[in-house]
This record gives sequence, structure tokens and C-alpha cells, in this order.
Amino acid sequence: MVEGKIRKVSGPLVVAEGMREANLFDVVHVGANRLIGEIIEMHGDRASIQVYEETSGLGRGDAVVSTGAPLSVELGPGLLTNIFDGIQRPLETMREKYGSNLIRGIDEKALDRDKKWHFVPAKQAGDEVHAGDIYGTVQENEVILHKIMVPPKKAGTIVDIAEGDYAVTGAVGHLKLADGTVEDITLMQKWPVRVARPYRQKLPPVDPMITGQRPIDALFPIAKGGTACVPGPFGSGKTVVQHQLAKWSDVDLVVYIGCGERGNEMTDVLREFPDLVDPKTGKSLMERTVLIANTSDMPVAAREASIYTGITIAEYFRDMGYSVAVIADSTSRWAEALREMSGRLEEMPGEEGYPAYLTSRLAQFYERAGKVVCLGEGDREGALSAIGAVSPQGGDISEPVTQATLRIVKVFWGLDSSLAYRRHFPAINWLTSYSLYRERLEGWFSEHVSKDWTTLTGRCLRVLQEESDLQEIVKLVGMDALSPDDRLKLDVAQSIREDFLQQNAFLDVDCYSSLEKQYAMLHLIFHFADEGMRAIGAGADVEDVCNLPVHESIGRAKTIPEKTFKEEFAEIEAQITSQIDHLIKNAKEEN
Ligand code: ADP
Repeated sequence: MVEGKIRKVSGPLVVAEGMREANLFDVVHVGANRLIGEIIEMHGDRASIQVYEETSGLGRGDAVVSTGAPLSVELGPGLLTNIFDGIQRPLETMREKYGSNLIRGIDEKALDRDKKWHFVPAKQAGDEVHAGDIYGTVQENEVILHKIMVPPKKAGTIVDIAEGDYAVTGAVGHLKLADGTVEDITLMQKWPVRVARPYRQKLPPVDPMITGQRPIDALFPIAKGGTACVPGPFGSGKTVVQHQLAKWSDVDLVVYIGCGERGNEMTDVLREFPDLVDPKTGKSLMERTVLIANTSDMPVAAREASIYTGITIAEYFRDMGYSVAVIADSTSRWAEALREMSGRLEEMPGEEGYPAYLTSRLAQFYERAGKVVCLGEGDREGALSAIGAVSPQGGDISEPVTQATLRIVKVFWGLDSSLAYRRHFPAINWLTSYSLYRERLEGWFSEHVSKDWTTLTGRCLRVLQEESDLQEIVKLVGMDALSPDDRLKLDVAQSIREDFLQQNAFLDVDCYSSLEKQYAMLHLIFHFADEGMRAIGAGADVEDVCNLPVHESIGRAKTIPEKTFKEEFAEIEAQITSQIDHLIKNAKEEN
């Protein structure tokens, strides 16, 4: 055990001397209250320590004791439905025990030590096991089966193992290692948060994480195991988008990391999340959610750790073979914590005062996403998708955090306050957003939805792009200057925006669209576009085409329930054709 003394305190940064034997990233206890901190820099016998609690009252000469272990999380039954702080202390339990004002230096265990879990073995005495193999399972709640795995780097022969009710640290059996030592097998394992958990092999992300949100699935899809960034200026609908993703994405679990928003925003999410109902099970969404929250009374340094705490928990569930989504909100607040520490360490500042390693730190987070073959038997595949919200000042995405993020992630959903102002929701700007997975996912969509999914969605993007160019022309010379083809194009683009992209998160029939319905909606819109062209070609007036009553039926399509849309869409399609035929007939008669 290394014990040093405080030399200097500067906000969350404490410099201690006499620490030569300590290791970088060791967790330390600081001062009489044993505040929790982490060594983030070593110079000779001096350690710079990031303290995760309020440092007032600490002074020169106070003791600093290293625990000799890096910042680690506890992984086992009891993670789900829990709300942890950035260093995995259980907020609810602490509130019950100590009231709502955090007392400093609380060393509350992340996982409840008394609660018993029913363990069912999948192995028996004499079995040889390796890292990632599954000892057995605990039905953690009705939704999630918790697989108890052999920790990474561990292997041996099972001496005994038995079904029963156990606390997370109780021995469900014993494992004999290669060197002959015998260890307890427990429901819980630990893992250092700054180290990515190992897997056998990384796989290319080729299947989509289906969200049921039309602008996302159809235009800017994210793969399972992919990375995305969503900047959300205030009021642009960022919270709603995150809730929609958490509720509807076809993932098994969600880890939500609240890195501390300004004011009360974090408490909003904390309050709202437990109230959300999982549409698939009808139970609380929390049953398959882990929340990491930085409350406003915690210093910024804890935000820095929370990202790693969250993604490590997510990796652990990925290792079981689950598909997990991590939503970090917001990485801007996280980057500010990094900037503050960097300033106190007197490092050379980069752009806007952020440290030069901002990009590499962000990359370290997003690189932990991916689709993998897990360690252990059975070729389990797990996926970890990472979605980071950023909150650029004044919505200006040219600032360093957004720009650094964009260099790393493959999907960008640009929320736009001017769209939100016009009540176009979700306010995802179709001109600035992109997904680099579109091509890779083409095969999946072609096989599972329709062969021409990518053609149709690509056409959608093209029309929207053309609309923006045409609007420039209209601004300059007026609508009358457009050719009939272009006039129709504007009409179709408007239909795409209003009838397809706008999706009401608060309307039961509209808040989720299956891929089949998304496809059928686009099909309808483009059937109209093609029939409209036919009419124009046959001499009909384009304004008459744009004013056809069937427009209203196309607009109503999104509110047709999943159960009946096929028949009703077929009817609308027939209406389109017959109304166009009628126009053509009239046009011919007039000539
Ligand atoms: P932010 O978190 O970016 O400040 P919110 O997510 O709270 O913004 O959204 C602000 C408001 O915008 C919501 O209260 C809601 O009225 C509206 N809104 C956002 N997204 C949608 C949506 N998909 N459908 C309907 N209304 C929405």
C-alpha cells in the first residue's frame, strides 16, 4: 500500500508526493474523508489525482492512500434497473441510507451484497472451462437472463457447482486453476473501466439497428455495433429522440450515460426514464436499462469516468451475446470535464482550450462499439452500438467536440432548431445528416425488406437534395420559371418531408413504423411521382397533378395502423392511378 501526502489542491485536482510506487490510474483515497480519486499523471514521486468528490477542506499534508487497483466496475446481477453515479456508486441505495445530500467519501458497493439471486448451472463438476464460457444463468428479471461467464483471462476445471440462491459474492462453486489453486466461482466479476473487455473477433456491422424512426431507418441507418452522433441544440428534440431510440430500437439492453447537462436537464431524464414503458414487454423500460447519472452535486471530474463506467457495463452484456445500445448524453459535457482537468494540469491547450488528446479520447470511447464474436463457447455474437449526443453551443457544429466526433462516428443525425421551430419532428436535417452504413446494410435490407429498398431510399435522398437546389432557383426567379418536371419534383419532395419524414413520437399509431410500412410509404409517394410524370408527359397541367385529391390520402398513410396498411395502401395506389388516368383523359379531350 502506497501512502503519500497532499502537496497541492486545485479544484478536483490533487497533487500528492511520496507516491513513487503507485501506478498510473490507481484508485486512491484522499484525506481523512477518504475521498475517491484516480491517478491520472505521474512525475517521479508526484501523482496528479483526479478526485471524484468535492475537495473543499483538503489541505497540504493530508494523507493519500493508493488502493493499488485501477478504477473498476462490479459486473453481475443487480446492474439492471439501477442508477449509478460516474464511479458506479448506487444512487438510490445511497439516498436511502444517507439522504439526498451526498456525504463525501461514501464507499457504497455497486451491487447489493445481501440480495440473493437464483443461479442455475449450465456446467457440472469436472468440466473444463475457459474465458467467456457460461457457468450458468440468473433470471435477473422477467426480461433479461443474466449469463454468468468465466471472466476474461480465466480458465480451469470446475470442482463443484450447485443450483441455489446466492448473493453476488457467494460461492456458487469452485474452480481449480492450472496451477492447482482453487477459487470461488461467484456471480460477480470486476473489470477496469479504462480497458476494453476482450472478445474473440470483430465482425463487420452488416445488420441495421432498427429504430422504427423513419428518417433514421430509411435515410440514415445505424448498424448494430455502429456509432452515431446526434447534436441537439436546446429544444431541437434531443430528449425525445433519445427516448425513442431507447424505447424502440431492436436491442436487448440500453445503457444510458448522463454526463451531466446544464441545470436540471439531467434530473429530467432521471425522472422520465423510469416512467417509460417498454413497448415490447409492457413493463418498465428500466428492466432492460442501466442508468449512469452525474448529479449536479458531483464535481465535473466524475463525468469523465462515467463514460468508461457505462461502456464497460455495456460490453459486459455484449459478452453474453446481447445487442446493447449505449447512449451518452452529452459528450460535450464530458469533453468540458476533460478540458477543465487539462487546464488544471497546465497542459498545452488545443482548439478552444480543449486538450490535444480530445479526439483520441473520444475515439477510445467509440472504438469500443462493434459487433463481435464473444469469448467462450458457442460462437455467441454480441453487438454494442454507441450513440453520443453532443450539445454544441448555439447549435454551431463547427466547434471542436462536434468536429472531433464527426471524424470518428459513421452516422450523423443533425438535429436542427429551425426545423424544430417549424414543428418538423424529428428535426433531423436531411441535407446535413449522413450514414456511412447505407452501402453495407444494403444486402440486409434487400434480403429482409425489399430488393429495391436502397434504390428507393436513395431516390428519396436525391429528391430532397434536388429540392434544395430548386428552392434556390425559386427564390431567385419564382416558381413560374420551373419546368413542369421540376415543379412536380418540389411537390414530391414536400410529400417526402411531410408525409414520410415527419413522425409524431406522441401518437401511438405513428411513433413506430415497421420497415415494411416505411417501404410501402415510400413506394406510395414514388408511385405518385411516376404517375405524375406520366400525366405531364401526356399533356396534363402540372398544377392539376399537384392538386389531386389523392394527396390527402398519401398524407394520411402514416396514421394507418400496421395491421391494415397493406390493403389500405393498395387502395390509395389504385386511387392515384385512376385520378391520373382521369387527368390524362381530360387533357386529351381539351387538346
Ligand atoms: P431538447 O431535449 O432538445 O431540448 P425535447 O426533446 O425536450 O428537446 O423536445 C422539445 C419538444 O419538441 C417536445 O416537448 C415536443 O413537444 C417536441 N418534439 C420533439 N420531438 C418530437 C417528435 N418526434 N414528435 C413530436 N413532437 C416532438
